[in-house]
Amino acid sequence: MTNQTTQRRPQQLEDSDVQQARNDTPNAIVAVRNGSVTYDLENRDAMVLDDVSIDLKRGEILGVVGESGSGKSMLANAMMDAVEEPGITTGSVRYYPESDGNPVNVLELSRGELQSVRWEEISMVFQGALSSFNPTMDIRGHFEETLTAHDYDVEAGMKRARQLLSDLHLDPDRILESYAHELSGGMSQRALIALSLILEPTVLLMDEPTAALDLLMQRSILSLLDDIKEKYELSILFITHDLPLVAGLADRLAILYAFEIAEVGPSEEIIGNSHHPYTRALLKAVPTLETPPASMEPIEGTAPNPAHTPAGCHYAPRCPLATDACRTETPPWDDVNPGHRTACFHPEKVPEAIRFDGGENGS
Ligand code: SF4
Repeated sequence: MTNQTTQRRPQQLEDSDVQQARNDTPNAIVAVRNGSVTYDLENRDAMVLDDVSIDLKRGEILGVVGESGSGKSMLANAMMDAVEEPGITTGSVRYYPESDGNPVNVLELSRGELQSVRWEEISMVFQGALSSFNPTMDIRGHFEETLTAHDYDVEAGMKRARQLLSDLHLDPDRILESYAHELSGGMSQRALIALSLILEPTVLLMDEPTAALDLLMQRSILSLLDDIKEKYELSILFITHDLPLVAGLADRLAILYAFEIAEVGPSEEIIGNSHHPYTRALLKAVPTLETPPASMEPIEGTAPNPAHTPAGCHYAPRCPLATDACRTETPPWDDVNPGHRTACFHPEKVPEAIRFDGGENGS
């Protein structure tokens, strides 16, 4: 299924920059570099995303985990240049199309160019399908409207819609004729995922897509996602506050704390060999069948207000290992293992100082 109008490749990087970008970001389908989002809050600049650099690799599921208000949604919005005014997004978001591999900087696209990247190349699913659907339009109308708005062949597109709905274990006849309020939460969320894939994007950004659902439905959608990713050759960024939920699904995890990335690495490394105090605190706060509620350890203190983030490491006011350097200087990145990095002054102390009984290896 192709767009009926002549596709214009969005503004590209200069040729001289392309090879450099490729060298900098091997295997990336989206590479964020120094991504920041700033708002004017209380008459001062408030960073709600602070100098984040991260790659979404082709074909992977990257889980982005953090507390509410940590900047997770802001990261996804920045990746689509969809931060609402008066927010200001800076840095670069390079998207590497599969066809010719020449990256485009999403943040420098014109409105028209952005229109052809959003939804057709990079798509997004929000939490709460009910608020994403127009209550006066049936689900078929949403598919047809999206196809028409992007000059796609509606007949071919509706065939794809039916296939997508079937792949998500939904009855296309019933769903297409329904209004969102006539569907259960799980059904409408899956219909929204199908809608997000109707224009054949290669990147799917999912912002807490299962947060409003019960545990069984969450697990069922996650297992479908794995299949959908393979069949439609997707790369997925999955945002959640629920570390255990995404740990079994994601190839890699990025832990966000107070608008910055604290730690990133393969899922098994982050779960079993974390070297960042905040990641360990998150893991210790997770209830398990073996852990009685009384032995769970909630994270003490509160995350900082974006207008008053502390100097140095943002986690320092809550961190049991904080030293003077932590309170004044930005922590450096430390390579724990290949592909596993942590932003901390004292990573070598972390496994011994902050122990937990959940899947640790060797510490
Ligand atoms: S840099 Fe310091 S304050 Fe920040 S997480 Fe590491 S030990 Fe804690």
